[in-house]
Amino acid sequence: MKPMPATTAKPGFWKKSHHLDRMTLRELVFAYLQYPAIVIYLGLAAVGIGLWAWRPAPIPNSLAAIGAAIVLFPLVWYLLHRWVLHSQWMWKHSLLAATWKRIHYDHHQDPNHLEVLFGSPANVVPTVAAATIPVGWMIGGMGGAAAAFATGMITTCVNEFFHCIQHLSYRPKNRWLAAIKQRHMAHHFHDETGNFGITNFGWDRLFGTMYNKVSDRAKSATVFNLGYTPEVAERFPHVARLSGGVEMRPPSHRHRAAGNTPK
Ligand SMILES: [Zn+2]
Ligand SMILES: [Zn+2]
Ligand SMILES: [Zn+2]
Repeated sequence: MKPMPATTAKPGFWKKSHHLDRMTLRELVFAYLQYPAIVIYLGLAAVGIGLWAWRPAPIPNSLAAIGAAIVLFPLVWYLLHRWVLHSQWMWKHSLLAATWKRIHYDHHQDPNHLEVLFGSPANVVPTVAAATIPVGWMIGGMGGAAAAFATGMITTCVNEFFHCIQHLSYRPKNRWLAAIKQRHMAHHFHDETGNFGITNFGWDRLFGTMYNKVSDRAKSATVFNLGYTPEVAERFPHVARLSGGVEMRPPSHRHRAAGNTPK
């Protein structure tokens, strides 16, 4: 049998739909570096570095601002992933439902689909700016804010890359990489109410939501639909309307059922 292509034609901005379960690491790196959101983030990081060079903060302040951004990033991600992306209120409001579907529901519905794995710059950039610029400014004025923001954008790219790797169908030799991949897979396929981190599970440890083995927890009935069940969809139909119904089957089953015509 001929292997399925890693990319399928799809009209739209990026021209192609990419599926990580059919990509190699090399193909992923190539697609990643061309992905518009990543290009935007790297461009904004360059703007931040340029601003810092124009109005530099003293080195100790700059390093402190960079450090603050590195420490804050996983905390902000944890809070958003647990209480916004896995919330049960966004699907209720027509204005928020489309955003929720785009930024997390679609990723849990089709975890290997690269285009919905990445966040959208319209949501990511303001979030990173809000999390880094005020604290950076307090530490080092304009230069500190620029350094913190650039760090936030670079951390976003690093996080997105590791998130892609976690969904790539290969077994990493590196033990740390294998462990974070296993935890994220458990978040997708076993119990979505834990393992909210991507590369940093410190906040999961602190809040008691980390688990290493799937045998540590019972399988969640809502691991694929995130609680957006047909009953919920009856009351709050926005997401179902945008998705063409409520899909109850697990993503792997859908991939097989879709055969040669992946979404
Ligand atoms: Zn999630
Ligand atoms: Zn994921
Ligand atoms: Zn897919």
